[in-house]
Amino acid sequence: MEKDKSLRQAVQALIFWFRKHKRDLPWRKNADPYKILVSEFLLQQTTVPVAVRYYESFLTAFPTLESLAQASLEEVLRVWSGAGYYARARNLRETAIRLVATHGGVIPQEVSELKKLPGIGDYTARAIASFAFGADAIALDTNGIRVLARLLGKKGSPRRPSFRRELYQVAEILCPKGKASDFNQALMDLGSLICTASEPKCHQCCCSRGCFAFRSGRPQDFPSVPEKPTRQPLFEVACLIVKDGQFLVAQRAPGRWWGHLWEFPRQEINPNESSLAAVRRIAKEKLGLEVHPRAIVTTVRHSVTRYRIYLTGVLAEYQSGEPRGEGYVAFQWVSLADLNQLPSSSPQRRLVQTLLDMAREGSQFALIAEVLNEPRGQVA
Ligand code: SF4
Repeated sequence: MEKDKSLRQAVQALIFWFRKHKRDLPWRKNADPYKILVSEFLLQQTTVPVAVRYYESFLTAFPTLESLAQASLEEVLRVWSGAGYYARARNLRETAIRLVATHGGVIPQEVSELKKLPGIGDYTARAIASFAFGADAIALDTNGIRVLARLLGKKGSPRRPSFRRELYQVAEILCPKGKASDFNQALMDLGSLICTASEPKCHQCCCSRGCFAFRSGRPQDFPSVPEKPTRQPLFEVACLIVKDGQFLVAQRAPGRWWGHLWEFPRQEINPNESSLAAVRRIAKEKLGLEVHPRAIVTTVRHSVTRYRIYLTGVLAEYQSGEPRGEGYVAFQWVSLADLNQLPSSSPQRRLVQTLLDMAREGSQFALIAEVLNEPRGQVA
């Protein structure tokens, strides 16, 4: 009974704190359902700073649900380029198309209806329903789960559905009626600003009086001692094949990673194979091209799911052949200046940026200057 009372007081203090100290996030400026829909898609699997970076440019390109529904997939992917996890962009566009076609362009208010739309799971549906429509729907993100588990003194793995289910049940009881939007966002903000994973600032926290984890003296151990994520390394080369001052790029088939996006053709390096040898082999076996690998440009690192990808860009001169290849649906030769206009993944954009920097600085590789600046026909 006493515990219930102190928890309810902690929740009151939390909501009071939130109203004074909430983060100034662009999607909080009003409760426009379309803007909240966009922000929730961006926030799936992305940090808040990254979502903020892409939010404004996405809304500038597609200011309304209708404009998004009318846009081509290529356009949407281009604006999303660099934000990662491109399935979200495809699902967001699909959602817009479906809402315009079947709901008169109106975003539904009920969690159950929202969950029928592409890319909207239970959490996203609850977040949209509470933030855009004031519904009494609990939505606990990673921060919210951690803060609530600490307040309650609950140990366990946040990945386990049963653990999350129990927290949702308690949250339903603790959340004051009609205040789910503030409650959800207050937990998120406290988790982001004060009750961080490894260094909770309990002495600054509005909830410390009612917090079990604080009283335990080891708040960082709740809900569980964090495990270091282990990622499997993946070594790949990107073939920067140049013909007449233009680069070969390929469009990926729809699929698991980076479907529909454009890239320098890439593949895994075999064990004990050099990057240059890998480019010669991949060009021949995968693309049907003869090339002359000339220089390593850079290696970029990138994490995707459980992989740590090391992608080495190798500049190679085109010699002969017509590009073809499994896993790709189209090819084109593009000037360096135009590469940035194509929708592409973050590691590929970093390769392009490196080439642009090198070209601008009068590259250390004479070849770069040669292939980019010499008139047509003098390179091969
Ligand atoms: S008192 Fe400490 S552990 Fe408890 S909610 Fe606040 S910051 Fe987190």
